[in-house]
Amino acid sequence: MMDADRAAQNREIRDGVKALCRRFDENYWLRLDAASDYPTEFVDALTEAGYLAALIPEDYGGSGLGVAEAAAIMEEVSRAGAHAGACHAQMYVMGSLLRHGTKTQKQTYLPKIAAGELRLQSFGVTEPTTGTDTTNLKTTARKQGDRYLVKGQKVWISRVEHSDLMVLLARTTPRDQCARKTDGLSAFIVDLREAVGKGLTVQPIDAMINHHSCELFFDDLEVPAENLLGEEGKGFRVILDGMNAERILIAAECIGDARYFIDKATAYAKGRVVFDRPIGQNQGIQFPIARAYADTEAAALMVERAAGLFDAGEKCAAEANMAKMLASEASWRAGDTCMQTHGGFAFAREYHIERKFRETRLYQIAPISTNLILSYLAEHVLGLPRSF
Ligand SMILES: Cc1cc2nc3c(=O)[nH]c(=O)nc-3n(C[C@H](O)[C@H](O)[C@H](O)COP(=O)(O)OP(=O)(O)OC[C@H]3O[C@@H](n4cnc5c(N)ncnc54)[C@H](O)[C@@H]3O)c2cc1C
Repeated sequence: MMDADRAAQNREIRDGVKALCRRFDENYWLRLDAASDYPTEFVDALTEAGYLAALIPEDYGGSGLGVAEAAAIMEEVSRAGAHAGACHAQMYVMGSLLRHGTKTQKQTYLPKIAAGELRLQSFGVTEPTTGTDTTNLKTTARKQGDRYLVKGQKVWISRVEHSDLMVLLARTTPRDQCARKTDGLSAFIVDLREAVGKGLTVQPIDAMINHHSCELFFDDLEVPAENLLGEEGKGFRVILDGMNAERILIAAECIGDARYFIDKATAYAKGRVVFDRPIGQNQGIQFPIARAYADTEAAALMVERAAGLFDAGEKCAAEANMAKMLASEASWRAGDTCMQTHGGFAFAREYHIERKFRETRLYQIAPISTNLILSYLAEHVLGLPRSF
């Protein structure tokens, strides 16, 4: 549980984010979705208010807040009907730089990220042929003098066109020459401003949601050796270390989505009159909303618990994974209930529900799918035999 001061600070943050989000109503998001545009003004406003630098330490110009506060920010953004996916990555990608960057790298990038002069919104891990089997990825980085040459392909890499920097994972030692399959991978900071068109080709993917995801083609892209993040061959750890924060923040977004759907469903059920009474008077309408509420509150407790452990420096991989799984399932069920409550009007874009419904579906698949979370819990928490 949070102490009183921290709880008051958390409430203040939530009120501030709510007020900021009111400047960008749901029609703003509807227009962006229809045009596949990026919410530049919204991201600028969040940055100016300091929210996207919540996790950057004060020494580097950030607010030095905990994951619990960052989660509150993401939750309120989602609850307001906004699409947090447009900007969430900066919060957690930055963690890799903070934990594994050299002093020079941190001094070069973090103050500028905190000030909004640089955006670190992208991380490049997923590949078309290897999927979830990350250690089998095929993109290579070959050292040549004072640089690495990157060759290969990535898919679904989000916000590349709206970011200055990307953290990239590539293989520096062939897998068959490594003692463990997690060895031999390295992380790099890629300066997208220099890379695009000079060894890196970016191709946007026409997708179900406005997430700005792209295919990336690397053809001997030159990355200066000084941009290696962490030790060569230990990049898997660099990426893995950022994952708990990522899971918790995504889970918080899902809680925001779920609460958005419950708010909307409840309001509509009270106001929509059919057969001379509000539809919310029927238990067939009430119960699914009440169940979605109970599911959401339970998942929110797990998010709070995971964030509390993270901020206390305790192990939290199981809780972070469970939070993400439970919250993504709660938001999906709340979305489905909200659709059902609205009947045919759920399909009208001006009601905004179908957009949020599409957006929240992502989180059972990315950044990690539910099956992989269950597999983690089964093997690492319950000690069941490894299946892969
Ligand atoms: C909109 C969007 C944005 C994304 N943004 C990024 C990004 O910015 N950066 C990035 O690196 N990636 C990104 N991704 C990729 C995302 O992380 C992957 O799609 C996700 O991890 C799943 O990988 P995959 O699509 O290759 O599925 P696959 O690995 O092909 O899996 C397909 C299905 O099979 C299941 N499965 C696979 N193996 C097993 C097993 N052993 N046991 C049980 N089930 C199994 C999976 O759970 C999944 O349901 C994004 C994806 C989307 C859709």
